[in-house]
Amino acid sequence: MAGGFRVLLGGGEQLSTQKLVLATGRCDRLPEAKGFRRFFGKGIWSCPLCDGWEYRGQRLAALGYGDAGVELALGLLSWSTDVILLTDSNGIPSADRERLRINCVHVNTQPIARFAGESVLQTIDFADGTTLERSALFFHLGAEQRSPLPKKFGCHERRHFLDDQTST
Ligand SMILES: Cc1cc2nc3c(=O)[nH]c(=O)nc-3n(C[C@H](O)[C@H](O)[C@H](O)COP(=O)(O)OP(=O)(O)OC[C@H]3O[C@@H](n4cnc5c(N)ncnc54)[C@H](O)[C@@H]3O)c2cc1C
Repeated sequence: MAGGFRVLLGGGEQLSTQKLVLATGRCDRLPEAKGFRRFFGKGIWSCPLCDGWEYRGQRLAALGYGDAGVELALGLLSWSTDVILLTDSNGIPSADRERLRINCVHVNTQPIARFAGESVLQTIDFADGTTLERSALFFHLGAEQRSPLPKKFGCHERRHFLDDQTST
């Protein structure tokens, strides 16, 4: 069909359509530090819009690099005035540092060694031996398409509102 799509399903069924929605999902890039998987969903979250409300007024951390990290940290101020940005050894341009300082967001650039707690996230341990107590950590390290289909079709990905310019 002109300008449309013909889809051949696994069972042999064929569909024709003018527009095709690929809802095959995206995968967040995950931090590598120990304990991450144990506390993902138990104090570690990817979306402040989904899970920030439960932590309003509490001690929060944002983990991200570049613009994405800065925007994530500033966004968390909607929920709490106690926000610290963790960059896991990545630097921050001085203009961003100033923006964060004006908004009372602290910055810690130490490499993260481990996420720890009993049943939920309680502390973040750094490579220099220091520890930070936090009720929740929100991260955004970019995301990738879960399926190779969009790329095979030549689709160009639009930037996520938190992605920095180095992300896909
Ligand atoms: C910890 C956590 C908490 C969250 N909390 C919230 C919340 O409170 N509120 C909220 O709105 N959102 C929340 N989200 C986000 C929400 O889960 C996602 O936005 C949502 O699941 C995205 O839906 P989707 O259908 O686009 O993708 P997905 O849920 O990833 O679904 C994609 C589907 O496509 C299938 N698939 C992939 N490739 C193929 C293929 N080639 N052929 C056939 N099938 C394929 C996959 O198997 C999968 O079933 C949370 C996410 C996480 C990780």
